[in-house]
Amino acid sequence: MTYKDYYAILGIPRDATQEEIKRAYRRLALKYHPDRNPGNKEAEEKFKEISEAYEVLSDPEKRAIYDAYGYSGLKSSGYKGFEDISDIFKTFSDIFEEFFGFSFEEKTQTKPRDGADLSYEVVLDFEDLFQEKRIKLEIEKFEICDVCKGTGYDPQKGVKICDVCNGKGRVTYTEGFFRISYTCPDCKGRGTIYVEKCSKCKGSGKIWRKKELEVIIPAGIEDGSILRIPKEGEPGLFGGKPGDLFLRVKVKPHRYFYREKNNVIGQLKINFISAILGDKVKIPYFGEELEINIPAGIQPGEEIVIEGKGLPDIKTGKKGNLILKVQVEIPKKISKEGEKLLKKFAEIEGIKNFVNELSINQKDSKKKKERFWEKFIFGNK
Ligand SMILES: [Zn+2]
Ligand SMILES: [Zn+2]
Repeated sequence: MTYKDYYAILGIPRDATQEEIKRAYRRLALKYHPDRNPGNKEAEEKFKEISEAYEVLSDPEKRAIYDAYGYSGLKSSGYKGFEDISDIFKTFSDIFEEFFGFSFEEKTQTKPRDGADLSYEVVLDFEDLFQEKRIKLEIEKFEICDVCKGTGYDPQKGVKICDVCNGKGRVTYTEGFFRISYTCPDCKGRGTIYVEKCSKCKGSGKIWRKKELEVIIPAGIEDGSILRIPKEGEPGLFGGKPGDLFLRVKVKPHRYFYREKNNVIGQLKINFISAILGDKVKIPYFGEELEINIPAGIQPGEEIVIEGKGLPDIKTGKKGNLILKVQVEIPKKISKEGEKLLKKFAEIEGIKNFVNELSINQKDSKKKKERFWEKFIFGNK
């Protein structure tokens, strides 16, 4: 553990009074204040060091432990010091107000702020779902100005104490009996003003940029999914964390197919001859041609399942099936000759009744349906 000499850090004798300690800290705090030394790591460290020395020595209890047992004694009593700059501002907001005439609340400029999340929509075609897809996204977001590091002022020139309010952040106006105090219009209560605005960002601390981002959309992603891309939102300010980028995935409906879990569902229209005799048909299917085998005697509404031709599962990559629901087309008009042949066909096959039977409704429970038909056919019992 390194030894820290708090008296040497503040440049005061060991018997310094509270008044002397405060004065020494004020002088050094002004010198190493982060606002006056933007981007200067050394000054920041120095600012932390003097603030820790001040915290210990201005507290009689901590000072007594430190005087008697040194730095290690203080540490073992549970003293931790400061985590970061914002910690210092929070602890010493009163003292800074006294020193510089403004409080931490007004002086939010260097307080760490997390970047906002961004949200974009990505529109995919149905065919994009079959493999992993890399897309290039152009997102517009601001970046922290690399010249001033987000402070908005010329880092070469830094800041100076505001002349109008003398660094107090407030101006007092006296007329007769009245004394009116208001926030300094020049420095907006900060107590400091820029010597010169940053020439690159014109004082905003931000620069708008278009950023091209390559994003990988996993195969099999579902419509409405949200992809989170960490840290690609807006950047944080003054040590704050960057936001995330959220991509909402929208899948355009396909003309012929839709999705059910990982299965792809389509309708296959066949003519009644193919339904009776069986057939082989070719269908175009996302970059390939599939040969579909239609078994003889297939019924309308039956499904033909082609295994492994569905969509990949987003987690396992295992592919679902292609399911074709069969529709049988009956010709609306046939020729005289055709009619003759069909009648002949009916005769040969022994098909006599045109309406064979009422079939039981498959959707509802069987019993209920049967009772309904009993009533319908035989009247109320
Ligand atoms: Zn700038
Ligand atoms: Zn001012």
